Amino acid sequence: MNSPVLTLVDVAKTYGDVRALRAVSLTLVPGELVVLTGPSGSGKSTLLMIAGGWETPDSGGEVVPHPPLPSLPMSAMSWRDVGFVPQSISLLDELTITDNLAFARRPRRAEDLGSLLEAFDLTKFADRTPGEVSRGEQQRTAVGRALVADPTLVLADEPTSHQDRRRAAMVLANLRQAADRGAAVLIASHDPESRDYADRTINLGD
Ligand code: ADP
Ligand code: MG
Repeated sequence: MNSPVLTLVDVAKTYGDVRALRAVSLTLVPGELVVLTGPSGSGKSTLLMIAGGWETPDSGGEVVPHPPLPSLPMSAMSWRDVGFVPQSISLLDELTITDNLAFARRPRRAEDLGSLLEAFDLTKFADRTPGEVSRGEQQRTAVGRALVADPTLVLADEPTSHQDRRRAAMVLANLRQAADRGAAVLIASHDPESRDYADRTINLGD
């Protein structure tokens, strides 16, 4: 087995008296796609936010990156290190769909994004802004943004929640391809379809 790129050790999160996540330990290796399942409120988003450095775990928990990730806090990682798809999607409203994709690849030279737009069925919307496309199209842009820089690690929160069946399969196939190219991919999803693309499933409801 490949050596891990990310290790989570006893990661838990409490907000006031709400226990969002009880202690979870998890190892992600290159080339593997892991699906995180569990009922609504089981802490899937919290775990991804902690893994991506957007939240800090309760004391005692650790998030440890390994090469080729740099030895930095997760909050300091670039889009080339970590591609993140937040549940809230969070595009830049003033940029076109194309520039939202290009955004995560800066400061590399802008290349043709045509094949990526095509891979996510976004070609028709390339020059529109997020306010001019559907939620599903926004979400596919967010997944494309996470993959555009070919990151070492991909964290995707409910990446198919606004997709029809065909587009959900398209999104999952793209995430699978990223894993096949060597990324470690962690997806939070309650879409049963996503398990067909997974090497491993972790249920937070357990
Ligand atoms: P999931 O993604 O599995 O639906 P979440 O990680 O979003 O679950 O939430 C887990 C639990 O933590 C829920 O009970 C939620 O209400 C709570 N929670 C999440 N974020 C916060 C926050 N910022 N403040 C208070 N409670 C939160
Ligand atoms: Mg969630």
